[in-house]
This record gives sequence, structure tokens and C-alpha cells, in this order.
Amino acid sequence: MLIIKNIKSINSKINSLKRSGRSIGFVPTMGALHEGHLSIMRRARRQNDIVVVSVFVNPKQFGLNEDFARYPRQEKKDHLLAKKEKVDIIFYPSIEEIYPTRYLTYINVEGISRILCGHDRPVHFKGVTTIVGKLLNLVRPDNLYLGQKDAQQVIVLRKMIVDLNFPVKVRVCPIVREPDGLALSSRNKYLTNQQRLESPVLFQALKKAKIKALKENVSVKGVLNLMKSNITKNSSGSIDYIACVDADSLVPLDVIKGRVMIALAVKFGKTRLIDNIVFRKDDGKKK
Ligand code: AMP
Repeated sequence: MLIIKNIKSINSKINSLKRSGRSIGFVPTMGALHEGHLSIMRRARRQNDIVVVSVFVNPKQFGLNEDFARYPRQEKKDHLLAKKEKVDIIFYPSIEEIYPTRYLTYINVEGISRILCGHDRPVHFKGVTTIVGKLLNLVRPDNLYLGQKDAQQVIVLRKMIVDLNFPVKVRVCPIVREPDGLALSSRNKYLTNQQRLESPVLFQALKKAKIKALKENVSVKGVLNLMKSNITKNSSGSIDYIACVDADSLVPLDVIKGRVMIALAVKFGKTRLIDNIVFRKDDGKKK
């Protein structure tokens, strides 16, 4: 596995790979790799000649009072994990090279970057689209691998890719969970023992909401209220949002129909956890 730490080297390596006609699968991450990341790398490995993983804790996607400074960093362990998954290149750029002094250029997907997670984290998606746009220009992959865990990120990045004509296919990988249902996240490390014990309530609430939502004549409000009481009665979590939206556009649903996503963000102390569930509900009418 090649470890590349600067832009000049990634450019020349990608140039030679492109010349040789090999397909490139790209997995952008912020490191602190866990089974969620590794499952994505495995899929990229199966579908491409070359797998590139980036590890970059992107300061631009953290708000001022967020956890940039304490975000877990484990460079050596990440190298070993990526190597085990037969990753070809791990790209580890420095902040100084990605954002040199007087850096001024940003990518912003309007509207959908400011709802749901973007409401509580107003600079977050602008940071995500800017870094992923830059990384796509550097790595020039055929396939970009993203996790469904960050469902809004997938939708915002898809929009950026379509609007700005990035020549890449987006491949979305399923959410990997702990045996008790908690979605894996680098931030789970922050949870106290008690919060960790309570945290499976999120996926339990999502599953119950799906069961209710699939019944006939159920209102969005009824489903969301069930979730709220589920979470607040059974945990110390404080709800940032729970939403029932169209799974492709993020438009809030009035009626539960089509490809539905129920998404949530809940804070346990200072730790903000997100999760979602996607399902289809047809109105039963024959077409
Ligand atoms: P991050 O390092 O948190 O920026 O995540 C890098 C990629 O891994 C993103 O595309 C995430 O959506 C994805 N990812 C993170 N956690 C999970 C998970 N539990 N299951 C599947 N994908 C995940």
C-alpha cells in the first residue's frame, strides 16, 4: 500500500494510473476507521482495479464549537486497517496543502445544505462539498463510495456531482451497526457507558416508526410523535431533529408515500448521533 502525503505525488500517481486505463474507486474518510469504513473499502476493492482511501479531518466542515480538535486521530492503526483491506493508496494530505493561506474558494449546494443537519450545523455541508470536490479533482475516480449512514451528505454530494459535471458514479453502501443496532461512528467513542447503553434507542425508534408508517392512514405527525416519546422516555438524549422526508430529494412529506426516509439527530451530552431508515410505501392502487 502506497502512503501519499502531498498533492504533487498524488497527481503524478493518478496521472500514470489513468494512462494505464485502470479504474479507480475512491473512499473519502476522516480516519478513525471502523467496520463501516472497512465495508465500504471492501466493496470498492471488488469493483475497481485501484482503491484510493483519503484520510483528512476537514476543519472546514466543523463549526466553531464543534469537535475538530478532539476528533479521534489514529494514523498508524488506520494504515494497518486499510492495508488489510488491500487498499492500494492511502492519501493523507496536510491541512496546509489543502487550504493554503488565503484560501478563498468554496462549493456550496444551496437549500438542501441548510436543512436537517445543516440547520444545526450551518457550515458543515459547505465544508463537505468543498473538500470532496477538491478530492475528486485530485483522485479523478470512476466510482465514489459513500455511506448511507450520512444520508443527507449523499444527497448533497450527488447534487454537487450532477450540477458541476464531475465524471464519477456515486455508490452508496449500507449502514453498518453494532449488534445492538447503534450505527457505527467514530464519534461513538465519546459516549459515556450510560449513554452507550441508551443509544440503541435511536435505531429501535426508527424501526418502530417504519412499522407504524407502513400501516394505512397514518399521519407523519403520528409517526414522529411516536419516535419522540420513544426516545425521550427511554434515554437522556435530546432531539435535534426527527424528520420524515422524500429519500431522494429530502423534501418533507405530508403523506407517507414513495421512497421514504426517516432521519434523526439526537444529542447525548455533547455527542451528536445521526441515523436513518429508508423504505418504500406504495398506496396499494394498481397502476
Ligand atoms: P467519516 O470518516 O465519518 O467522514 O465517514 C467516511 C465515510 O464512511 C462516509 O461516506 C460515511 O457515510 C461512511 N460511514 C461512516 N459510518 C458508517 C457506517 N456505520 N456504515 C456505513 N458507512 C459509514
